[in-house]
Amino acid sequence: MNPASETDLGCAGPAGRNTLRVDAARQLILDSIRPVGGWEMVPVRDALGRILARDVIAPCNVPAHDNSAMDGYAIRAADLAAQGDTTLDVVGTAFAGRAFSGIVGAGQAVRIMTGAVMPHGADAVVVQEITRSEGNKVVIPPGQRAGQNLRRAGEDLALGSAALAAGKRIRPADLGLIASLGIAEVAVARRLRVAFFSTGDELASIGRPLAPGEVYDSNRYTLFGALTRLGFELLDMGVVPDEPATMEAAFAQAARHADVILTTGGVSVGEADFIRELMDKLGEVRFWKLEIKPGRPMAFGHLGGAWLFGLPGNPVAVMVTFYQIVQDALLRMAGMDPLPPRPLLEVVCADRLRKNPGRREYPRGKLEFADGRWQVRTTGAQGSGILRSMSEADCFIILDEECAGVEAGERVTVQLFEGLI
Ligand code: AMP
Ligand code: MG
Repeated sequence: MNPASETDLGCAGPAGRNTLRVDAARQLILDSIRPVGGWEMVPVRDALGRILARDVIAPCNVPAHDNSAMDGYAIRAADLAAQGDTTLDVVGTAFAGRAFSGIVGAGQAVRIMTGAVMPHGADAVVVQEITRSEGNKVVIPPGQRAGQNLRRAGEDLALGSAALAAGKRIRPADLGLIASLGIAEVAVARRLRVAFFSTGDELASIGRPLAPGEVYDSNRYTLFGALTRLGFELLDMGVVPDEPATMEAAFAQAARHADVILTTGGVSVGEADFIRELMDKLGEVRFWKLEIKPGRPMAFGHLGGAWLFGLPGNPVAVMVTFYQIVQDALLRMAGMDPLPPRPLLEVVCADRLRKNPGRREYPRGKLEFADGRWQVRTTGAQGSGILRSMSEADCFIILDEECAGVEAGERVTVQLFEGLI
């Protein structure tokens, strides 16, 4: 599929040509991309973390039979006196996995264990603790209702119903649910193929000493971590120098193999920022100045059959733009639908935060429980190159475009890393 036919990238943001607010950029990208399609059958355990490609339809009722929710006695509610105790004959026992084969007749009860199939004739279970056993009789107090303490056939999953919907990411409960239906294999979306490389003449690969002016390439490692957690198939293309011919070859190779290409660096307006020019030449790409901090410059578009995200170079800006803008788009391409909720919390901010209105800012925070409530502090220096600010954090503090700073003690919105990162 050539994505070119399905998108219109000729859009400018409300704040001016090529300047976009975060929400607008996110929406524009989500509106442009489509699931890549393709699926495979995998054994149930291998489906963990994968995205379902088809509904899982229940081939049977779960539970398969009416059964007891408690240890006690299976009885006929109509046998009981309205007032006062009723004494019933105990005519047998029903175990989980070993049913009572007879019929419960008038004036009779069957001792029953949790999970045992309800014997024919009985319509309620009386919990053992409120009964009194007298030889092979049992005394039942009044006030029992037909249907009590039963689990009905199909109450968890009804035969023929959609137990799980296509688009869902499989979690542990889903594995159990699939197993509860006796299903051994499920159809999952094929893994999204993501190629990524870092650009910059100053970048050194780990494992050798730094020459003067060099920095180790860290972006490829954060992206490796982020993409691996999402379950994608990765093509790590290493460091590409700021050299147009080499970059062009890297893009061509990436576009041949991947659904998505991620690059870092080279998208601002510096002398060596060739990525912009090249993307323009090779594909259909829009460059934005996002109203975001950190992470102002960013590119999005397509190149060959692949979608392309040109992220900024600064290590924290890479992470912020990835999680705020790119991640959900990748999940959508990978077949996830609906996208996961991204809940926000409001907590007290223990620090004073400086900010000018204009951009949406994502200082990194750490939550702490103090004076009987949760509050957040920043993780110290918040420069866009200071990766420690991410590493020590457990949430983003979200300061909207209009925000003009926060006084200590004011409430702020935070987004937990747990579930996001
Ligand atoms: P650029 O957007 O290419 O101008 O890069 C902005 C800043 O991020 C520069 O200080 C780069 O050295 C730094 N940077 C770019 N790519 C990486 C990377 N892969 N790892 C660490 N730092 C990087
Ligand atoms: Mg650079």
